[in-house]
Amino acid sequence: MSDLKLCQGTECHTYNTQDRVKGQKGNKTRQTRRRSNFYYGGGNFCDMRCMYDWFQKFGDKAIDYFGRLTEAKHLTEENAWVKDYDWRGNTDESHRHYFLNTITKERRPLTEQQYNDSNYTLNT
Ligand SMILES: [Zn+2]
Repeated sequence: MSDLKLCQGTECHTYNTQDRVKGQKGNKTRQTRRRSNFYYGGGNFCDMRCMYDWFQKFGDKAIDYFGRLTEAKHLTEENAWVKDYDWRGNTDESHRHYFLNTITKERRPLTEQQYNDSNYTLNT
């Protein structure tokens, strides 16, 4: 029970679904959803509605806290790298991963490990 996560939705407990009804007979309440895994908002919300409820209430403060954009970002050759791969279906060979610069169209090879590492980037 202890490794279950609680949905962070501010109104989760108010939505009328059977799976939210918990407790002893005669003392049941609707409760925030708990699961081992959630698929929305980085694993914090049980569904889109709960994610948007949270954002509606805290999004503005969160953006101010982490830094609100005050100038438009510009896509340049230095930050135009995206990860991609060529599908190699029906072979034992793994997919061919690479960085692609969306401006210059240059390709640079990438290992699968680098592809899966979300911190690994060529963008500056
Ligand atoms: Zn929820």
